Amino acid sequence: MNDSFDITIIGSGPGGYVAAIRAAQLGYRVALVEKYDTLGGTCTNVGCIPSKALLDSTEHFHTAQEKFREHGIETSPVALNFAQLIQRKNKVVGQNTAGLQFLMKKNKIEVVQGWGIFKDQHQLLVKREGVPDRLLSSQYFIIATGSKPASIPGVEINKQRIISSTEALNLKEKPDTMVIIGGGIIGVEMASIFARIGVKVTIIEYMDRLIPTMDHELGQALKKILAKLHINIILKAKVQSAVQRREKVTVSFIHADHEEQSLSADYCLVAVGRKPYTENVGLDTLGIEKDSKGFIKVNHLLQTTLPHIYAIGDVIGGAMLAHKAEEEGIFAVEAIAGKQHPIQYHLIPGVVYTWPEVASVGYTEEYLKEKGTPYRTGKFPFSALGRARASMDTEGFVKVLADPKYGEILGVHIIGPRAADLIAQAVVGMTYEVTDEDMFRISYAHPTYAEALKEAYLMASGQGALNL
Ligand code: FAD
Ligand code: NAD
Repeated sequence: MNDSFDITIIGSGPGGYVAAIRAAQLGYRVALVEKYDTLGGTCTNVGCIPSKALLDSTEHFHTAQEKFREHGIETSPVALNFAQLIQRKNKVVGQNTAGLQFLMKKNKIEVVQGWGIFKDQHQLLVKREGVPDRLLSSQYFIIATGSKPASIPGVEINKQRIISSTEALNLKEKPDTMVIIGGGIIGVEMASIFARIGVKVTIIEYMDRLIPTMDHELGQALKKILAKLHINIILKAKVQSAVQRREKVTVSFIHADHEEQSLSADYCLVAVGRKPYTENVGLDTLGIEKDSKGFIKVNHLLQTTLPHIYAIGDVIGGAMLAHKAEEEGIFAVEAIAGKQHPIQYHLIPGVVYTWPEVASVGYTEEYLKEKGTPYRTGKFPFSALGRARASMDTEGFVKVLADPKYGEILGVHIIGPRAADLIAQAVVGMTYEVTDEDMFRISYAHPTYAEALKEAYLMASGQGALNL
């Protein structure tokens, strides 16, 4: 067995596997090291894919219950088969991990199953129970070891009743009640999944709004929408502890008015962020530096303290998104090959897969205000759109923020049907620096949700809406 490679990648998440494929395409001999039996990392196994599978299934269930009658569809009472819901999700994950295995084979990438730990600057030891260790030598390395769930003082994720998203995606039975700590992205997506199938969900969020890293208006609008799913949303409340006794968990928190309160539920889901995964990789032996939060430090080329060792994805911090990890995977490999296509980090879109969806790119209104940057707002509600009325998806709006003098688009924020897909055209427009009026003047098929963007671009350019 030849264990000498040009590029060895540790971790097979969206950062790692995309880097591996790009490296193989550029003619390198590539090894991809993964400690789990399946490829795809957090995203494919316990993140993006399974959560979206459950979000879609539960939205169908909810639509059948709440909207079919209005559409003129009569059914006998719609029933939930929770085991089948989870089984379908597992099938979708299986299809994706098998697809990755096939892609690795097709691209002649050597997949090495086991735990990777640096022995020295050019050698990685791969350990796996029951099989002899392998020592891989490599000219370059890319660390793509990702992240894992974080917690807060007083709350220990015991994986029984105090759980992270990983366990929540794999419950055996539908709970009656659930408290979610954190109203960030995982918090609101998980709350949607469970509330739609009748679980009594409470979200406890520290800040004064949901999804607090996004434009404030989005979080405010989302709160009203989630409240219609009967989700109890407690804002400005800091969780102090979660304690499991038998089959119940008691969560204690202090509200902004200093009042101490507690809630009891079948499960407590901890969704307070994720932390870099760097344990036992041998970074300290090599002197690879980390920042105060434990993220691996990299320079503008994504090189660590050692220039032949790169790091990408969640493990280096920034937006913890699969597509950000993918961009960095491609960038690192191309940097090794001497090519440079800089990543425009502020044009990486963020999406929340609630229904309606939430999607953003560029600067928020709060950021522009804070920086004193002049801007003009174009805002159009989906309720005024023919397409949205036809489908009964009238909640939400599009908000475009643009430079009042030159029309440069500074930010696009959407809460509404298919926002996740709509945001792609805003990314194109902003990447190629077209103006708000240019974006209005291109033709949009009628009737489509995208026409809400056309209207908002028109309004941002200082003109009145057409109400298409
Ligand atoms: P990861 O995907 O975490 O992969 C790292 C891999 O490295 C893992 O497989 C791990 O086993 C392996 N590894 C670690 N250490 C070693 C070692 N020493 N040796 C061998 N292997 C090792 N992002 C989106 O963009 N869209 C979404 O819809 C979305 N939904 C999400 C839903 C949930 C519930 C969660 C938790 C996350 C979601 N994310 C989403 C975030 C996304 O999953 C991450 O940003 C992405 O997976 C990061 O990719 P990565 O390649 O950096 O690391
Ligand atoms: P997050 O940072 O989005 O949200 C964590 C929330 O917990 C914050 O709103 C924070 O104010 C709150 N919080 C922290 N301490 C608290 C306390 N003591 N009491 C009450 N609230 C508290 O993190 P997340 O939701 O766990 O998601 C982790 C990462 O996974 C995110 O960075 C996200 O990018 C990624 N992710 C992305 C998607 C997607 O792209 N659709 C989906 C899921 C996860």
